Amino acid sequence: MPLREFRCTQCGEKFEELVRNGTQVSCPKCSSGKVERLISSFGFKSAGQSSTASGGCASCSGGHCSTCH
Ligand SMILES: [Zn+2]
Repeated sequence: MPLREFRCTQCGEKFEELVRNGTQVSCPKCSSGKVERLISSFGFKSAGQSSTASGGCASCSGGHCSTCH
């Protein structure tokens, strides 16, 4: 089932929508057609503690090992 996640670039509302080819997606909050699709198909939080956002790598989680650079 093609359930996609979108975010409105107008008001920032996040929502999910069933999308088929050619479907015009619009924001349920402000009805804006300017939405972007969020890529959330792989390993976002299912990979345990992935701390790439804080600068660490998978082996040290702190950003200080040789793999980080
Ligand atoms: Zn909106």
